[in-house]
Order: sequence, then C-alpha cells, then structure tokens
Amino acid sequence: MTKNIVLLPGDGIGPEVLNEAVKVLKSVVGENTFNFEDHLLGGCSIDAHGTALTDETLKACQMADAVMLGAVGGPKWDDPAAKIRPEQGLLGLRKGMAVFANLRPVKVHLDLADASPLKAEIVRDVDMIVVRELTGGLYFGTPKGRFMEDGKEKGVDTLVYYDYEVERIVRLACKLAEDRKGKVTSVDKANVLESSRLWRSVCVNTLADFPNIELEHMLVDAASMRLISNPRHFDVMVTENMFGDILTDEASVLAGSMGMLPSASLGEGKNGLYEPIHGSAPDIAGKGIANPVGMILSTAMMLRYSLDMEKEALMIEAAVEKAIHEGARTADLGGTLSTTQMTERILSAL
Ligand code: NAD
Repeated sequence: MTKNIVLLPGDGIGPEVLNEAVKVLKSVVGENTFNFEDHLLGGCSIDAHGTALTDETLKACQMADAVMLGAVGGPKWDDPAAKIRPEQGLLGLRKGMAVFANLRPVKVHLDLADASPLKAEIVRDVDMIVVRELTGGLYFGTPKGRFMEDGKEKGVDTLVYYDYEVERIVRLACKLAEDRKGKVTSVDKANVLESSRLWRSVCVNTLADFPNIELEHMLVDAASMRLISNPRHFDVMVTENMFGDILTDEASVLAGSMGMLPSASLGEGKNGLYEPIHGSAPDIAGKGIANPVGMILSTAMMLRYSLDMEKEALMIEAAVEKAIHEGARTADLGGTLSTTQMTERILSAL
C-alpha cells in the first residue's frame, strides 16, 4: 500500500535541506512509492494563516505514515514580545502527534574526527544515541506564567513527571539498547529534584523486564562533563525533556557540525516526526551552502522506524559514509560543496 508522507519544509534552510532529502529518498525507493503532501509550519504558516500550526496541518500529520520536517523560525518572527511564535508550531505538533520520545544518534564519522573542536582521540569511534523525553517536564508542566504576588512579579515553570511517562521512555531506551551494546545511562538530578527521584525508581522497576540491559544512573552535571571528557562511555542515554534539550546540543559538537545530525520523534504507533537537529540557520539561508546530511540521515531513520525499510535505511547511511570518506564536504565541514553538490555526491555513492 502506498505510504503517505507529509513534508513540512518550514523556514530558512528547512526547505533547502528537505528538498535534497526527498531526492535521496526517491532515488532509493523509486519515484512513486510514496505520496508526498506539502504543508506549512512555523514562520511561513504565521505569515499565511496567522498561526504557526493550523488544524489542517496537524490533522494531515496525525493521519500520515510519517512526517519530514526541515526547520522553523528566524529573525522575522523572533520578537520576544510576540504572542505567536514559530516554536509554538513545533511544540504543538509534537504534542498533537503524541511523539514522546526524541531519538538523536550521535555517530562520529571516522574521517570527520578532526572536524570536532574536541581532540580527535576523544571523539573517535563515538557511537551513542540520546533518548530525550519530549512531551512532559518543565516545558509543559502547569502552572506556568508570570504572576504578581505581594507586589512582586514572579515567573513560574513547573517540573512534573508521571510514572507512566518515565516508564514508556525508559522501555523504549532499553529496546534500542538491546540492539546495540546493551547499556543504558539514565540521566537525572536525583540529589535535588523529587521528579528525578521518581524517574530513578521507575527506571529501576522497568529494568526488571530487561535482564540483559546494564543500567547506570548519572547526575546531569556529571553527564555533561563526561560527554566531552569521555563520550565513548555512552551507548544509550535516556533523560527528561530539558536535560535532553541541553545535552543533545552538547553532544552534537562531537560530530563536528550541527548539520550532520538527524533525529526521530516517536510515540506509541508507527507514525513519527523526522527532522535534523539544527534550526533554520538564518545566517546561511538562501545561499545554497547548508549541509543536507542531517536531514538525509533523518530520512534513513524514517525508513527504519516508521516504514519498516531497514535495508533502504542502511543504504542511505552507507552512501553518506562513503561520500564523506571520499572527501565530500560542505562549508561547515571545511569544504566547498554546495547543498546540491553534497547531495549529488551522496546520490552517486548510492
Ligand atoms: P541553528 O541550528 O539554526 O544554527 C546554529 C549555527 O549552525 C549557525 O551558524 C548555522 O549556520 C549553523 N548550521 C545549522 N544547520 C546547518 C547546516 N545544515 N549546515 C551548515 N550549517 C548549519 O540555530 P540558531 O541560530 O540558534 O537558531 C536559528 C533559528 O532556528 C531560530 O529562530 C531558532 O528558534 C530556530 N530553531 C529551530 C529548530 C527547529 O526547527 N527544530 C531548532 C533549533 C533552532
């Protein structure tokens, strides 16, 4: 049966990298295997409809077999006082699609160990995956807002986790670890936070179902240090929303460029949201020099997790590896290839 893929190009370099990823996808699976449907999200949707995510776009994404997203945001919509912001579209989409787990693999390509600001001997052979809780915690907890109290203004965010939210994400991390080295590092702040102490105990209970998985707990401050001093220590890292937000950006430095890294956001069903980890990069938008690899590797994750096409996913990953091994480099990796030329090198490696 034909699969339906929703494309959300978004803003800035989003459309540039998504366009390239679709070329690679079609070359692997054929021109007519999938139905593609374009929708607006983020700043472009604010301009067209006055909202970052329309009901129609959300519905299309909920009904799709998978969703591919470029990036959203940019200076045009950056006014901190604005009531409608591009990121609201992204948060609304994650919540609306009920994708509670964000998977970010960080793999350092052998030939790019020198591209990282860290020493090559530290980043060489890093191959880890961060599993970040995406729909709970501080970003969603209530009460939230700015309130007056005894003549003083206070800002409030609420950090709340339910046991079932922790269990489902830890379970997912363990399943991923079973196909890897079998090690899960759970990152929390259990020495200070009550929600972290709940997280830790649910983790331990959940692990009873995974006798072959080795579980370690690590405080977030120690984890952030370990990520840059000995990143090979990690196999699968699982953590809550805000810690994951911060640690995944830190981990991206290992790979040399934000432009290299893919992500998948998954829920209970097969449908998922696939996007590179970078933003809309307004500083290089329209110049045709964005690195398309993060978006292309996100496509491979979509084939693997939403469409049961592991062979095709491996083909794309191998082609990226080969193109890089043969010296293909965009500007962020110290090279001169344009976005399109980089894709052509990957296509010829296929
Ligand atoms: P960014 O990721 O857009 O850019 C950070 C730096 O990395 C820039 O110098 C950029 O040129 C470079 N870069 C990013 N992707 C690249 C690529 N594929 N190839 C080459 N270089 C690349 O982060 P930012 O500058 O902090 O944010 C810009 C806008 O993107 C903001 O409006 C922000 O809110 C938004 N944003 C969106 C998402 C998303 O859509 N998921 C994520 C992060 C930021």
